Amino acid sequence: MTMTTSTLWDQALDDLRTKLDEESFATWLEPVHFLSHEDNVVVLTVSSVFNRNWLANNYHEVIQDSLSGLLRREVTVEYRIRPDEGLARTEQQAMEVFRRTQGEAPPLDLISCPFNQTNTFEAFVVGECNRFAHAAAQAVADPESLAYNPLFLYGGVGLGKTHLMQAIGQRLQTFGSHLIVRYVSSEAFMNAFIEAVAQKRLVEFRNSFRNVDLLLVDDVQFFSGAEQTQTEFFHTFNVLYDAGKKIVISSDHPPKELHELEERLRSRFEWGLIVDMQAPDLETRVAILRKKARPMNLELSAEVTIYIAERVRSNLRKLEGALTRLAAHASMIRSPITIDTVRSLLGPFLVGAEPKKISIEKVQMAVCNYFDVTLLELTGPNRSRKFTTPRQIAAYLCRELTDCSFPEIARKFGGRDHSSIIHSHRKIQREMATQLSLQNLIKYLTKLIKEEPPIR
Ligand code: ADP
Ligand code: MG
Repeated sequence: MTMTTSTLWDQALDDLRTKLDEESFATWLEPVHFLSHEDNVVVLTVSSVFNRNWLANNYHEVIQDSLSGLLRREVTVEYRIRPDEGLARTEQQAMEVFRRTQGEAPPLDLISCPFNQTNTFEAFVVGECNRFAHAAAQAVADPESLAYNPLFLYGGVGLGKTHLMQAIGQRLQTFGSHLIVRYVSSEAFMNAFIEAVAQKRLVEFRNSFRNVDLLLVDDVQFFSGAEQTQTEFFHTFNVLYDAGKKIVISSDHPPKELHELEERLRSRFEWGLIVDMQAPDLETRVAILRKKARPMNLELSAEVTIYIAERVRSNLRKLEGALTRLAAHASMIRSPITIDTVRSLLGPFLVGAEPKKISIEKVQMAVCNYFDVTLLELTGPNRSRKFTTPRQIAAYLCRELTDCSFPEIARKFGGRDHSSIIHSHRKIQREMATQLSLQNLIKYLTKLIKEEPPIR
């Protein structure tokens, strides 16, 4: 890489300056520092939890696009809080920032977020990955039942949390206009609260969230560090819960991993049902593609459908963007869409998404065979060198050759902490730099693993 890392961020800033208005740029982007760039992950640092949430919520995509554009491949951007700046900025200060950067506030009664009409149960494809979440959501949408209160949905980006929540809301509304349903992102809740405090309109704010039959709060991880908002939400929660009203919450992590949320709030989230939403398998992705293509009048052959589904695997939001582009193309050129068309039109969507199709098990098996150890020994706790070397090599290869994250790999190595996998990966990487024999071994194993036909 010819570009040094500090100039990388400088260049990104130059680019971002042209894309944002001056005040937003100065308030939110200028204070961001560059920390590291490794394995396609760029780590930036910010001065407070509030700033981090704000960036992640409002500028994440534009930052990610800018860095990906500069590096010509897809990068993941992460934010850390700079420890040297002491404790996170208090919410009170955040409120001031908010007041300075936001113009006239909208009237409070406009703050509920509208539903996306297409996020219905009918449009939701059920697969193994979301079967339980779907069933629970349907139960919550039954006006006669108070099962699973609160329902807590969690999972990665683009796996259908918002879709399911809005499906619950829209279904419940069909039972009559006397049922009041309110859907908000945690950010909208926080902004409304901050505004209400600033404008001394707390009573109005409280009424608007406490007189409802169903409250849906999306992405509660963004409450992190906003203490007063959390307290406010805690009371809202209690009022609704005690009155037998329904509450549905979503987040990127389960309650017990939301370390920056108050304990009493986390424990409330655990009162009902906690369900995780997982990445859909190929079959489900194909079904989702078909379902989304239909209303666009987009005809895709089985081959093309599978080609796309194989390349957009985790974030389903990308499927939608991909289909919109194809539909626009198809409406102009009246010929069937081929794989070549997909390749040329969807290049940016599919970059870095070539399926690797190598499983953790396959890597483990190859390493076990080579070192003559059993799977149990490879993934077990024994720290004798006979096992730790193969273990570290296997962990390294899993990260390099499969699509799995460190935590996923850790799970398949006897449920270790994922930091031990990161450690192994770094260690092998470091040693490879100086040991030719290790380099050759890794090359040999990689070739072996890649060449062997996939196990079906
Ligand atoms: P999240 O809130 O988990 O980040 P979304 O609910 O916004 O994800 O989903 C991203 C996109 O993928 C949306 O367009 C949504 O309609 C679609 N989607 C996700 N899961 C499904 C599913 N099971 N069936 C149909 N569409 C889905
Ligand atoms: Mg969402």
